[in-house]
Amino acid sequence: MDNKATEKVHCLIIGSGPAGYTAAIYAARANLKPVLYQGIQPGGQLTITTEVENYPGYADGVQGPEMMVDFEKQATRMGADVRFGLATKVDFSEQPYKVWIDDEKLIEADAVIIATGASAKWLGLESEERLNGFGVSACAVCDGFFFRGKEVAIVGAGDTAAEEALYLSKLCSAVHMFVRRDEMRASKVMQERVFKTPNIKIYWNTETEEILGENKTEAVRIKNIKTGESQTIPVSGFFVAIGHEPNSTIFKGWLEMDEAGYLKTIPGTTKTNVEGVFAAGDVQDKVYRQAVTAAGTGCMAALDAERWLGEKGLH
Ligand code: NDP
Repeated sequence: MDNKATEKVHCLIIGSGPAGYTAAIYAARANLKPVLYQGIQPGGQLTITTEVENYPGYADGVQGPEMMVDFEKQATRMGADVRFGLATKVDFSEQPYKVWIDDEKLIEADAVIIATGASAKWLGLESEERLNGFGVSACAVCDGFFFRGKEVAIVGAGDTAAEEALYLSKLCSAVHMFVRRDEMRASKVMQERVFKTPNIKIYWNTETEEILGENKTEAVRIKNIKTGESQTIPVSGFFVAIGHEPNSTIFKGWLEMDEAGYLKTIPGTTKTNVEGVFAAGDVQDKVYRQAVTAAGTGCMAALDAERWLGEKGLH
């Protein structure tokens, strides 16, 4: 690694969803001169959604990608240095912390804010990809409202699927829930709630073969794994709730994480087990996962970083 490829920064932010950009806005206004690397999907998960109606401040709703352009503009206007590039490796063994971008450039940072988010898992069907945003969604809280009074389907059997099925049952006329085994992984209390809800119909031992429709979701073809029987169910929406993967692989061995890879933070703060390294947004949140909660923890991370830098005499 030659020295020309090394750069020293005061506050490095990794990730460009609501958490990363909000951290950048606060850090820039606190004169931490933040440098933000956007990662593989600038703007994060919201860039693959359509309309966002639950982010406060947008009275008429906003398209997800447009909202993230607004976030970026605001961060840039405050003075954040927003760059394209993917963090590929870190070394948190000593100060300043080392983060490699695109396997070539080395950044040395006094404080690091990790806001790398999570990615929804998908079934991997061609039709699922093609109809994504056209009836296919991985977020019931974001998109359920568009299917008020209609029939929808959901695949998954964990707490998220149970929670989302219950959420959808309050909006939709019927929720068809596809479970691949003969039992659910969700906690008993969540299962009970699902079982007690009259407009949720569970299909056990069921896999999704295809989502049908040209430009919008019209039906789903499923197969009973035990009997081999297929059937087609007309639905307007198809929700995938088979889990998320936090984007935390490069921090393995450095930061404490749970068994699923979510970074652990000290409750009520964004502090990780390494001082000066903070985590915000979905990479450390498997429960709420909302743009507004991610933005909230992004703000917290910048304030925590500012305070920590001050305490260390670095700011
Ligand atoms: P989980 O990993 O717990 O569950 C994923 C579910 O999707 C499983 O039932 C799994 O089936 C199913 N699945 C996986 N792949 C496929 C596939 N290809 N086809 C069909 N089904 C598939 O993820 P969750 O997002 O539900 O939860 C993650 C964590 O967050 C859990 O620890 C959960 O308890 C927690 N959580 C807590 C909440 C709360 O407390 N309110 C709310 C939401 C999440 P199988 O069971 O057969 O493996």
